Amino acid sequence: MIFETLDTFGHEQVVFCHNKDAGLKAIIAIHNTVLGPALGGTRMWPYASEAEALNDVLRLSRGMTFKNAVAGLNIGGGKAVIIGDPAKDKSEALFRAFGQFVDSLGGRYITAEDVGIDVNDMEYVYRETQYVTGVHQIHGGSGDPSPFTAYGALQGLMATLNKKFGNEDVGKYSYAVQGLGHVGMEYVKLLKERGAKIFVTDINKTLVDKAVSEYGAEAVGLDEIYDVAADVYSPCALGGTVNEKTLPRFKFKVICGAANNQLSTDAIGDEVVKRGILYAPDYAVNAGGVMNVALELDGYNRERAMRMMRTIYHNLTRIYEISDRDGIPTYRAADRLAEERISAIGKLKLPMGRSQPRFQGRIRGQ
Ligand code: NAD
Repeated sequence: MIFETLDTFGHEQVVFCHNKDAGLKAIIAIHNTVLGPALGGTRMWPYASEAEALNDVLRLSRGMTFKNAVAGLNIGGGKAVIIGDPAKDKSEALFRAFGQFVDSLGGRYITAEDVGIDVNDMEYVYRETQYVTGVHQIHGGSGDPSPFTAYGALQGLMATLNKKFGNEDVGKYSYAVQGLGHVGMEYVKLLKERGAKIFVTDINKTLVDKAVSEYGAEAVGLDEIYDVAADVYSPCALGGTVNEKTLPRFKFKVICGAANNQLSTDAIGDEVVKRGILYAPDYAVNAGGVMNVALELDGYNRERAMRMMRTIYHNLTRIYEISDRDGIPTYRAADRLAEERISAIGKLKLPMGRSQPRFQGRIRGQ
């Protein structure tokens, strides 16, 4: 049953990690290491069942393979989940026990933060293994990736405007931004600097007030955001907000934002195309975060990170070319770009009989 599932998803290795004394129950999934060691965050969540945890880690790790490949990184896809309540079940022993399991994989899997995990938890993991990113800056960590993610999303936006309107002047268009958290607020700032008209919403009123007073945005209600007559919808909060209830209300011509999993289903992705809306695939647009942590692996450098964010423009352009070439929706074209890259690079390596690259450990204390 499990091997059948792994066959369908195409995973290389799934590791069940158990340490009774530390209260650790975790699963590490390595999906694909053709491009390099598998990198992806660890999520801590009170899963209702072990099957649900397994399903989540399989789905998320596969998603990382596509994301890392489209981002142009020499990095494969992996992910880990820890079964537990982040509010109650965290301890030094738990994270160190987890770190020992990560270490036992010898660099085939490199971890990072995800939902329910913060930089302090990663410090404990780091005591047991070098195969970890997203640690404190004092250890060569890259710090908060959000400003980079926002800047990367802006590059994706410009490529998308260019494709849709033949003009990438951000300030010429209007935007409906949903979510003003770490990424959303920075994104609004970048839009404002370019003279754009911006509508915003967030459940946190303080953040809305800030966007209005500092960036001249116009506040709209939480549900009203879907009816705004703006050119671009920029989801920067939750996933699944492009769905059968919201899509019929859209007057937007473009969907481009930083949130993960914006389309509720593939069928909705097809419907987006029918309505003449250009969708910028989320995982290509928001790759700034993973690019930033990937740079930690060979010594983090801020200028290099900013240069790398600009490649998101070209990644989106390539996705639109594939979409036109093959007559497929952009969300499928993004997957195809990933598959083509993995296949091409895989062919380069295999005939020479070389083993896959292994990360030799982070440069400690940089
Ligand atoms: P965040 O938690 O800082 O911000 C999310 C914001 O959305 C919060 O201000 C929250 O109040 C608001 N929000 C929640 N529900 C809402 C609703 N129904 N309507 C309006 N606003 C709502 O998170 P973030 O780090 O800014 O990330 C935002 C999105 O981008 C997430 O989907 C995340 O997975 C994705 N993402 C983030 C990064 C990164 O570098 N932080 C990288 C890649 C992807």
